[in-house]
Amino acid sequence: MKHSRSEELYSEALKYIPGGVNSPVRSFNSVGISPIFAQKAHGSRITDVDGNEYIDYICSWGPLMLGHSPEELSKGITDMISKGISYGIATEIEVEMAKMIVEAYPAIDQVRMVNSGTEATMSALRVARGYTGRNKILKFEGCYHGHSDGLLVKSGSGTITFGVPTSPGVPADVVKNTLVCKYNDIDELRQIFKEQGEDIAAVIVETVSGNMGVVPGKKEFIEALREICDEYKTVLIFDEVITGFRLAYDSSIGYFGVKPDMVCFGKIIGAGMPVGAYGGRKEIMDVVSPVGPVYQAGTLSGNPLAMYLGKKNLEYLRDNQDLYTELDRKAEKLANGIKENLKKLNLNYTVNRAGSLVCLFFAEGPIENYDDAIKCDIEKYNAYFKEMLDMNILIGPSQYEAMFLSKAHSDEDIENTIKCNYEALKKVHNL
Ligand code: PLP
Repeated sequence: MKHSRSEELYSEALKYIPGGVNSPVRSFNSVGISPIFAQKAHGSRITDVDGNEYIDYICSWGPLMLGHSPEELSKGITDMISKGISYGIATEIEVEMAKMIVEAYPAIDQVRMVNSGTEATMSALRVARGYTGRNKILKFEGCYHGHSDGLLVKSGSGTITFGVPTSPGVPADVVKNTLVCKYNDIDELRQIFKEQGEDIAAVIVETVSGNMGVVPGKKEFIEALREICDEYKTVLIFDEVITGFRLAYDSSIGYFGVKPDMVCFGKIIGAGMPVGAYGGRKEIMDVVSPVGPVYQAGTLSGNPLAMYLGKKNLEYLRDNQDLYTELDRKAEKLANGIKENLKKLNLNYTVNRAGSLVCLFFAEGPIENYDDAIKCDIEKYNAYFKEMLDMNILIGPSQYEAMFLSKAHSDEDIENTIKCNYEALKKVHNL
């Protein structure tokens, strides 16, 4: 397969952009090859600048529930542009969007739009701290909540000591209030709360983690979070940047039957535009400026073009909820197909799935937390990625990313992917 134009662009990009990319995962560094550059995409397919077409399971990392460039969304967008791109004063569509999100998510009364998932989680934590008057927050190992300082914390498993920054540039002082607990571990959670619960402003969690592969929270774990947060008057924040409007139209509330105090959204609510949002019950959101003293603002927050596409995306999902059943069926078909291949090839690997998120772990299961996930054979995954790419299947260039399915992925796409998965696994393991 020819990648010469991508290679040219990459060497040019390296001169002007750190690592040649605007987000690290795009560099394909983790799989040891130079990245492909996108030219266009439609439906389930993405085409690179050398004209190679792939079945796309990256799908912009989650926002594209209807696939690439769906007509349902793009109609009317040029009209919007002709009316102005951004005003800096309030618009009707922001009110409509907020109403839609609040109506869809029965735990919240109000929502504030921001420009990314990172901004949403960062702001929600500030609000939770302002509301409770407490400083500490608790996150889970392997969960990613964007790149704000206080959330970039690495932690040895089982630690209940102060966090240690994962990245240079994050002062230890900033993360000293970030506690880290093992995912899906109710005992450790209770222990941390027994020792420090009165000081914990918020627990932030991915109900299904999509950042250590796909690792679903166990129902009893999510229920325990609710119970413990109630006991200690800690704000429970669901980071639904990946799961929001993906697991179900009512997101994790429908999926787990548990309501948080606050929620963060991103990705799907922008349909591919740079959007995030955080929301909560009115008494919590009342601390946000200009009503309350907690400051949070944004020049482009609630941008009319982003609201237009995001709102259309949500309207489609609200009015076509059978799509969730259909995506579930397709994702199950893909997961089962991969499992059968593993059986045929006698490979002891694990497939996790939650809704339309699927992940093949190159390790024996069960994979229920970060320690389980890091047992994967990364070299084998990297070789597998390259084989799949050669067969025109684009999956995440990292073991720890999900495969994202969309309405546009056909049964034929999935059958083709299962066949390629078999061939790639066979080749990588010299079978
Ligand atoms: N939260 C979760 C669960 C995410 O997966 C991500 C990004 O992938 C973020 C927050 C950060 O969102 P963004 O990349 O839009 O800043």
